[in-house]
Amino acid sequence: MDLGIAGRWALVCGASKGLGLGCARALAAEGVNVAIVARGEQALQQVADALRALPGAGQVVAVAADVTTEAGRAIALAACPQVDILVTNAGGPPAGDRQFEREDWIAALDANMLAPIALIRATVDGMIARGFGRIVNITSSSVKAPIDILALSNGARSGLTGFVAGLARRTVSANVTINNLLPGQFDTDRLRGNFAFMAKQQDADAEAIAEQKRRHIPAGRFGQPDEFGAACAFLCSALAGYLTGQNLLIDGGAYPGTF
Ligand code: NAP
Repeated sequence: MDLGIAGRWALVCGASKGLGLGCARALAAEGVNVAIVARGEQALQQVADALRALPGAGQVVAVAADVTTEAGRAIALAACPQVDILVTNAGGPPAGDRQFEREDWIAALDANMLAPIALIRATVDGMIARGFGRIVNITSSSVKAPIDILALSNGARSGLTGFVAGLARRTVSANVTINNLLPGQFDTDRLRGNFAFMAKQQDADAEAIAEQKRRHIPAGRFGQPDEFGAACAFLCSALAGYLTGQNLLIDGGAYPGTF
């Protein structure tokens, strides 16, 4: 299937590993020019080289910046000649349920709610003026069903979800869509970090916890970042102009609800 986005420019945040990298790889493989952002320069440069080597890849720009800061976002935006596609992402907040202070909440809101909103605000009017835009926010299954040890994620991402639900209806007539992709459990460093936290809390083995979690996923396995990237690329495609304001859960069937 030709996704019809070769030659477009995408700004992909949190893209040196994990789900962001999965999205960058899928877009680069479609011939989309990508500007990839993460804080760690070394991993980012290695990933950029690997993306350039993909068959059919376009330009790849690596930007070392912290997207949770205004200065970092300015650097990231300046490195991308034109943002046709925006994938927002940053690290998840620390695990825990009720111990967090105001500063912890502000940091989580900055990373997982206000940073994506600021990036959308900075790019959406240009997209509307050009008559094409695709925005995908990497959020979490915690928006649909809370994860008890991720209080900050449950709260901050719900705020972003509410904002997107309103704005998406105001931009779609200009062929600018905004959707959220909700990962269940994907095999990344972040997931391993969560298992390590639970292991410490329960005085248990992290691998045993991973196995227990895996058994509860109907697919019988954790997701792979490239599976996540494929869904992202479709949402970013020219074919997906009638698909907006949605929260697409990718979780191997783990969410037990009918809808
Ligand atoms: P990951 O493997 O830890 O990768 C995070 C990526 O984001 C890295 O490239 C990291 O590079 C970059 N990053 C982190 N903070 C950043 C910042 N402030 N500015 C720019 N880049 C930043 O995480 P992941 O598993 O891919 O998860 C991505 C997002 O999905 C997270 O918010 C996570 O909480 C959420 N999520 C993941 C899962 C899962 O199963 N994996 C499930 C639900 C939700 P640097 O550290 O070098 O900046």
